[in-house]
Amino acid sequence: LVVLENVNKHFGDLHVLRDIDLTVNSGEVVVVIGPSGSGKSTLCRTINRLETIDSGTITLDGQPLPAEGRGLAKLRSDVGMVFQSFNLFAHKTVLQNVTLGPTKVLRKSKADAEARGMELLDRVQIGDQAHKYPAQLSGGQQQRVAIARALAMNPKVLLFDEPTSALDPEMVQEVLDVMTDLASEGMTMVVVTHEMGFARRAANRVVFMADGQIVEENTPDEFFTNPGSDRAKDFLSKIL
Ligand code: ATP
Ligand code: MG
Repeated sequence: LVVLENVNKHFGDLHVLRDIDLTVNSGEVVVVIGPSGSGKSTLCRTINRLETIDSGTITLDGQPLPAEGRGLAKLRSDVGMVFQSFNLFAHKTVLQNVTLGPTKVLRKSKADAEARGMELLDRVQIGDQAHKYPAQLSGGQQQRVAIARALAMNPKVLLFDEPTSALDPEMVQEVLDVMTDLASEGMTMVVVTHEMGFARRAANRVVFMADGQIVEENTPDEFFTNPGSDRAKDFLSKIL
């Protein structure tokens, strides 16, 4: 579904992505882990073109990523993103946050967008909060709204960049539970996370990055019990 070939990216002198080859198949959950600064967020952001690349190719459904205009807007709805910091619109209600994209970008009627929005809010178990404002919700609830908002665009793939890192510990699980449900329903997902329990349970594949490179790509079982590289062993010994 998403194919990166020989992708390189620099920030000035810093070579943040080095010859990245990565394929994400339909229905697959790929968990990306690695030390701080290894390029995980940048990798995610290239897939919906929040970052451009210097060389290589990225395709979605076999098509190169569109650079601008309607194509880019379509890409942003096809490739949903959930950030560490929720990024909800503070002056809009929960339901308005979820219906904004579908009405403005997908040109759905307000009634259709609201019906679908309520369905999605119920699915992330937050339907009863639909008319509140983000600031009135807990972090875990806000992140579930962000997930519902991404789902409202009917994405082909969802990217998660450390979705639970900003949450109080007691709220991490409720967000991981929603993500685990999505994974089991066949949603294609790329998840940057330090939640190794989630990686073990939900990932089809673990991608380990260091210094802008994919150092190792493996099944979660293999990766956690028998990492193939010293960098991965070292990383795991620090976080497990
Ligand atoms: P973390 O685990 O801390 O989130 P990461 O693996 O997500 O790290 P990135 O955010 O992708 O890492 O950053 C990779 C490198 O690129 C870092 O050295 C970072 O400082 C640098 N970098 C990221 N964004 C920019 C930018 N817009 N301009 C310049 N340098 C950047
Ligand atoms: Mg990051």
